[in-house]
Amino acid sequence: VEMDSIKFKELADEVIDFLRKEAEYRSITLDMNIPEDLPEFISDRGKLQQIFLNLVNNAFQAMSDGGTLSISAAKAAKDSLVFTVADDGCGIPETDLKRIFDPFFSTKKKTGGTGLGLSITYGLVQELGGTMSVESEVGRGTKFTITMPLAGPDKA
Ligand code: ADP
Ligand code: MG
Repeated sequence: VEMDSIKFKELADEVIDFLRKEAEYRSITLDMNIPEDLPEFISDRGKLQQIFLNLVNNAFQAMSDGGTLSISAAKAAKDSLVFTVADDGCGIPETDLKRIFDPFFSTKKKTGGTGLGLSITYGLVQELGGTMSVESEVGRGTKFTITMPLAGPDKA
């Protein structure tokens, strides 16, 4: 499989560009915390875009106008990078939290939610050799944390 050398700042900007107009219109603040000297890493650009677009999309859907979406990246232990996507939106009840990665679990069926975004995202993160976790509090917001190996997924 062909892999790409990824500058996360570039990738985050590409993903955010899809939603910049909506953010302006809804007065949503974008808080990007990505260090200039973050090392490049090996991964699949298309899959990473899909991962971050899904997370950012969900964050937008969870936020009221005037909220803040935060994206951060940092070098972490064991030759990995850690990324977070956080919102100050509605949050996820504890009973739902263990089901959000299940295919077809959605609390947005009335507005056309398929419930596939996070299950696909979870699968893609695994394919790329990463891990993913979530913390959430109802009424305060939600934070997804993704850890990716700098050297890319292990070759089989
Ligand atoms: P969909 O967005 O189509 O409903 P997803 O798989 O993307 O499906 O998400 C599943 C469910 O997880 C959502 O319906 C919602 O209840 C919850 N969820 C995901 N991200 C967030 C978030 N940032 N804030 C609040 N709830 C979220
Ligand atoms: Mg979704």
